[in-house]
Amino acid sequence: MGSTNARAAAIAALTNFKAVAPRVNFKDTPVKDLYGSRVFNEEVQRERLPKTVFKKLQQTIRNGMMLDPQIADAVAIAMKDWAIEKGATHYAHIFYPMTGITAEKHDSFISPTGDGQAILEFSGKELVQGEPDASSFPSGGLRATFEARGYTAWDPTSPAYILGNPNGSTLVIPTAFVSWTGEALDKKTPLLRSMDAVCNAAIRLLKQFGKVSEKVFSTVGPEQEYFLIDKNFYYARPDLLNAGRTLFGAQPPKGQEMEDHYFGSIPERVLACMMEVEHELYKLAVPVKTRHNEVAPAQYEIAPIFESSNLAHDHQMLTMETLRRVADKYGLACLMHEKPFAGVNGSGKHNNWSLSTAEGENLLNPGSTPHENAQFLTFVCAVIRAVDKYAALLRVSIASAGNDHRLGANEAPPAIISIFLGDQLNDIIEQLEKGAPSSSKQGGFMELGTSVLPKLPRDAGDRNRTSPFAFTGNKFEFRAVSSGQSIAGPNTVLNTIVAESLDYISGRLETESKGGKDFNKVLQTVLSDILKQHKRVIFNGNGYSEAWHAEAEKRGLPNFKTTVDSMPSLITKESVELFGKYKVLNEREVHSRYEIFLENYKKTINIEAQLTTSMAKTMILPAAIRYQGEVAHSLAATKAAGINVGNLGEQEQLLSDLSRTISDLQKKIAALAHVTEHLGEGDALAHAKHSRDAIIPAMNAVRTLADKLETIVADDLWPLPTYREMLFIK
Ligand code: ADP
Ligand code: MG
Repeated sequence: MGSTNARAAAIAALTNFKAVAPRVNFKDTPVKDLYGSRVFNEEVQRERLPKTVFKKLQQTIRNGMMLDPQIADAVAIAMKDWAIEKGATHYAHIFYPMTGITAEKHDSFISPTGDGQAILEFSGKELVQGEPDASSFPSGGLRATFEARGYTAWDPTSPAYILGNPNGSTLVIPTAFVSWTGEALDKKTPLLRSMDAVCNAAIRLLKQFGKVSEKVFSTVGPEQEYFLIDKNFYYARPDLLNAGRTLFGAQPPKGQEMEDHYFGSIPERVLACMMEVEHELYKLAVPVKTRHNEVAPAQYEIAPIFESSNLAHDHQMLTMETLRRVADKYGLACLMHEKPFAGVNGSGKHNNWSLSTAEGENLLNPGSTPHENAQFLTFVCAVIRAVDKYAALLRVSIASAGNDHRLGANEAPPAIISIFLGDQLNDIIEQLEKGAPSSSKQGGFMELGTSVLPKLPRDAGDRNRTSPFAFTGNKFEFRAVSSGQSIAGPNTVLNTIVAESLDYISGRLETESKGGKDFNKVLQTVLSDILKQHKRVIFNGNGYSEAWHAEAEKRGLPNFKTTVDSMPSLITKESVELFGKYKVLNEREVHSRYEIFLENYKKTINIEAQLTTSMAKTMILPAAIRYQGEVAHSLAATKAAGINVGNLGEQEQLLSDLSRTISDLQKKIAALAHVTEHLGEGDALAHAKHSRDAIIPAMNAVRTLADKLETIVADDLWPLPTYREMLFIK
């Protein structure tokens, strides 16, 4: 029996695994020969490009100026020569379609000359624009199939790099992906547009503080949580393989309650894998910095140093790809799903976000002088206003079928968007709200620009893990972002809503301080007004508590529990106007995303439902029925032997329990199959609602019975690797 059981085979295979790590050390490979060695970076550009071309390219990269088409050929030739020296045979435009994955199309440098020979070629045109057959990517109606063309456009602000493979290498060129009408079919284009929006708005506001900045950009440092489990287990679980999460599995006797995994020592094989991941990423100049065990058994984290959000996005996608690819070499499967195991902590992506000037000033750094404090507090108030006013959009930006399992599951923040400021900043903000000049004579109140505020420590001592959006010393941390998702969406929303708030403040300051009015007094009034109106979004308590849910409702904060609840907020008039005003998404683009997200939700649930049905029918039922047969046979045989027949009551009970559970399971499987097949009439929203209200409960009902059987059926008959095995055998 044992040998035909995939689970038993998996355990046998994995104990034989021997990991070999490549030797990584900075003594044999000096960091300058390693870090960025596969990137067409500034140094390589300076070395290889004619001076004028280099200068023009740098202007484009730094200041976001339009690329002079004249220089494209020169850049392409230099890139090609460099790439070929590094072993590249192909080039690929890499792009980020709405599926949330990384897509790439490879083309060879080889170009036949017509006489049976070939040369290696790469033109400026090929660098700047590509035309992948895009008809199979979701466009949410943006692109009719008869105009299936989509174009990839080179993003010079994200440097090209070489992706290695044992059999050759590829020059990878990061691009934006748009339809022939110029509408965004991807996640990068809106992100770049939102960066322009927040740049312009921040420059405008800085002027009020007497500052001239050439450019302001949002910075992001995304911390990635993930699971690593043995690959043999992964292949023995159709649910992990096809849905990314376990659809069955009884709770293990030991879970994470001992809290002995968090920051514990990293298992050797896992550490070897992490080191190779980091080594690969160093070559690509992805600034990964931190690694540690996370809360759940078999859960880990990797975090980079922050970068401009566009680069952080591309690097984040590369990090996920690299984790998956390298894990495989170590006999591991990297699970990036938000909730691979029920009842065990899920994975998120803490999105640390701030604004920085090109001159190097972090605009969310409190600084130490009153003047800096005033500017800092103004930017903080802009964020507070943005998060309150557009909480629903932030919620949409992190919505997915997977994240629905995680948000509010007593490990991740609830679906209610609120801001944690920490005691110190909260205290200052409270004073600021009351500190209008008219009441300042009561004493103790603060006036901007005249009183010295305490310098905030860079690292606020208290960390509130229960808040979805926390101030952490010199940045905000958006913690509701999910582990598997692209960070482009959440950052596009953040940049846009903050741009709108910055403009609101600039607008008021510009008009209200006309005619020589005292700037500080005007500013004080504006900020105080903002806080009065938006302080409801500030919450420093326990976000996991029931009391907070009640309190949030009293405050009128939206609480969209599921993806389906949140989605309509995306297409409200307010949302369409906001994205339109900042040229981040036009109305069609907004609607296309709404359609794609809902469709994606429905498809995800549908796949899970089909997997649940088939696994229950073909793996779990057979195991249970076999065991039922064994018990029945043994009972009958014992009875036939006629010895102590009076002692068989409990065994009869077991058989009766077993057969009842099997019969119940069959009924629930039939019910699930029925609701999965009958979606009913209606639009994308109606279908998504059906998935949420009919299919998910039906799946849960099947799972409950199957998990019960797991605790009854003989262990050697159970076909699926168990939670205990997957989480604890490393
Ligand atoms: P932790 O939250 O684990 O204590 P840190 O606070 O040091 O770690 O940083 C967490 C993440 O925040 C890192 O990726 C870091 O680079 C990023 N980060 C730090 N400063 C900024 C900033 N100004 N903008 C965006 N991200 C930042
Ligand atoms: Mg953190």
